[in-house]
Amino acid sequence: MALPLHLLSVIPLPRWALNIINRGCRSFINLARGEDMNGGHCLLPWSLVVCQPLEIGGLGVLNLRLFGTALRSRWPWLRWSPMPPPWSLIPVKDDAAAVAICKASMVILLGDGSRAKFWSENWLPGGNNRWIKDIIGGLSALALAEYLKLWDLLAGVSLAPGHPDRAVWRFSDNGMFSTSSAYGLFFAASARFACAKSIWKSKALTKCNFFLWLAVHKRCPTADNLAPKGWPHNPICALCSLEVESCTHLFVHCRFTEQVWHKLRVWSKTTFPVPSCIFYSTEDWWIEARRRAPKALRRDFDTFVILVHWRIWKET
Ligand SMILES: [Zn+2]
Repeated sequence: MALPLHLLSVIPLPRWALNIINRGCRSFINLARGEDMNGGHCLLPWSLVVCQPLEIGGLGVLNLRLFGTALRSRWPWLRWSPMPPPWSLIPVKDDAAAVAICKASMVILLGDGSRAKFWSENWLPGGNNRWIKDIIGGLSALALAEYLKLWDLLAGVSLAPGHPDRAVWRFSDNGMFSTSSAYGLFFAASARFACAKSIWKSKALTKCNFFLWLAVHKRCPTADNLAPKGWPHNPICALCSLEVESCTHLFVHCRFTEQVWHKLRVWSKTTFPVPSCIFYSTEDWWIEARRRAPKALRRDFDTFVILVHWRIWKET
């Protein structure tokens, strides 16, 4: 993976190359069955779910297209460095998306004003009024309002001769660019995944955590997920032999599962709610059940939940 990432930091890879790399990653994670590594045969959509960060429900696999853009946004940033490394001055064709990310994430702190571009750099609010000469022709009411607003903003700006302009990255604590902060911008507006910490901070084995991650996404290899893909399956729940098998039935609504949790609750002398028909999904039940656990024991409770789910799955 190191070589493609190195290339991505300079040039965008073509779609076919990204597809080949992604197919290899899919095969490694074993999200698809047999040799069917295309999107239609995967348990979860690759780009939309798997390649999301852990905290918003993915597996944290890099989305190469977006990560490449984040890597290349370092180039416009380096041009603002007071002592840019020699290789940063190599003429590289700017990636429009990378430049846009950089411009949106950088704030220019004015010094002598020699480098900041008036119209295209993000330096307001921090003079002279020479910028007025750039405005020619008749102004509409809207343009006039913007003109007056700009006038007010500029009134508080003053230059500091002898001090160069410098750039600050808005999305890092130290004001410096980092690829991870640029990459994180792509997911800033995504909804948080409530079970992320419960799953990935547990003490269970990774294979069990991964299984629970599938269960919470309702994508275990149960009949409801196998049937649409034409894969062999038993349509009836193997535990109660009463209902159609699905992720939600198996782990939340099945009478067998409910009895298992009843017994475990008695054994552990606790009062957490057991999975039953009043819950919509594994996530719905888990959030409510762990809320009742003392804070100091929540990690242990999460591990307990994951291992019990894994054991129930092994019974089918
Ligand atoms: Zn059942």
